[in-house]
Amino acid sequence: MPPTVLVATRGKIFHADKGCPGLSWYKDLVEIAITEIGVQRPCYRCYPDAPRAKTVRRYCQVCKGKTIRPCRHNGGVLVSFPVRLGKRTLTSEADDTYTRTRWVWPEHAARY
Ligand SMILES: [Zn+2]
Ligand SMILES: [Zn+2]
Repeated sequence: MPPTVLVATRGKIFHADKGCPGLSWYKDLVEIAITEIGVQRPCYRCYPDAPRAKTVRRYCQVCKGKTIRPCRHNGGVLVSFPVRLGKRTLTSEADDTYTRTRWVWPEHAARY
């Protein structure tokens, strides 16, 4: 069994401790496996060593995108990751990979 954490069902933060002041507003707590954490971030009180994943997401006046997206001008981080080509084409073998790059928020860079 993986370790479990506490989340409020509509909360975006997960906690280690039932008595955490950050949980006092919530009544609908659930315990989930640490492997089931999705969008939730660690609570800063319960996990003081966790990286502070709070980035100011600014709209980029240079790229002028339709939505606020990370880019080189607003604190985005360029990550590269291998992508497997699914099927054989004229120029590549079935198990070829190529490297893609994209801009992500710093707190997401660790996933790549
Ligand atoms: Zn907490
Ligand atoms: Zn930009």
